[in-house]
Amino acid sequence: MGIPQLREVLTRIDRAVEDGVLPVVVFDLDSTLFSTEPRNLQIFREFARERVEQYPELEPLLQSVKREHMGWNIHESLRAQGLENETLLSELKRFWSERFFTDDYVLCDDPSPGAVEYVTAVFERGALVYYLTGRHAGGMELGTVRALRKAGFPFWRGRTPLHLKPSFAMADRDFKDQALDEIRSFRGRVVATFENEPGNANLFLQAFPEALHFLLLTVCSTEAEEPAPELLKTLDFVMPLT
Ligand SMILES: [Mg+2]
Repeated sequence: MGIPQLREVLTRIDRAVEDGVLPVVVFDLDSTLFSTEPRNLQIFREFARERVEQYPELEPLLQSVKREHMGWNIHESLRAQGLENETLLSELKRFWSERFFTDDYVLCDDPSPGAVEYVTAVFERGALVYYLTGRHAGGMELGTVRALRKAGFPFWRGRTPLHLKPSFAMADRDFKDQALDEIRSFRGRVVATFENEPGNANLFLQAFPEALHFLLLTVCSTEAEEPAPELLKTLDFVMPLT
């Protein structure tokens, strides 16, 4: 269940529209609007089926490992499940990174609970829905558009820009820093932002202090910053009834 401030965002969108200002809401994709657990699990299963003869310790894991065991990356998750063979783990890491950041595999993801309904409500109220993601152009753009449409998120609707990282090599944080200028270029009012990485959420809080900034309590990188106390922590996008 999400938190009551999710509803406050809708009220603030209404207020901006009444004021004649474009409301802007920024949404991250991975581990924010989408759960990457199914993508990680799919990659693990393919790896395990391919290598089980070479590494028999994968056999029981094929049965026991479920989506809830998936974390930020797959090799750390499997280490947590008791895999200790470093050669196997480094092969898994390579296998994972060759697939995780691709058009085909992003289609495995599920939308986060309540996310499609929530983003649709934000859009229908008149906000500009700014999809901002560290997924890179030149390898993930087509899959990303297909995944957004497959899940039912508003897209191809005019007020729904999708901003991807220009190259795989660029650091996510530098990219999100630069993206602030693009967001400001609409001359609207940033009403809310949604992120799972505390560092990025802190950055948005600094850039747009008047807005509500949500931190999704899904997974985040292992070297994550401390989240600022002002961030609103939510498990998902399911709006409480009252
Ligand atoms: Mg993310």
